[in-house]
Amino acid sequence: MSETGMKKKYKLVYDRANCIGAGSCVSVHPERWVMNAQDDKADLINATKDEKGEWMVEFTLDELESFKLAAEVCPVNVIHIYDLETGEKVI
Ligand code: SF4
Repeated sequence: MSETGMKKKYKLVYDRANCIGAGSCVSVHPERWVMNAQDDKADLINATKDEKGEWMVEFTLDELESFKLAAEVCPVNVIHIYDLETGEKVI
């Protein structure tokens, strides 16, 4: 794979506080989402939390479709994706 293909090109922002625990993200993308039995919200695997309490992770093109799908199926739209180069919102 080319170097550009491996570059972290996207950023996912997850507003976990507003997750209602529907579990749709986990069903479509279990590699990166898991339900937390303690508060019944989804955890984003390998993410970091920012000062606003939002979780984020940067990822490469190969994960874009799966993360996009998770964002699409979330009933409360708390998952968003941004292009790191242009700053544009992907979803
Ligand atoms: S799909 Fe949305 S509301 Fe449902 S668990 Fe995932 S983040 Fe939470």
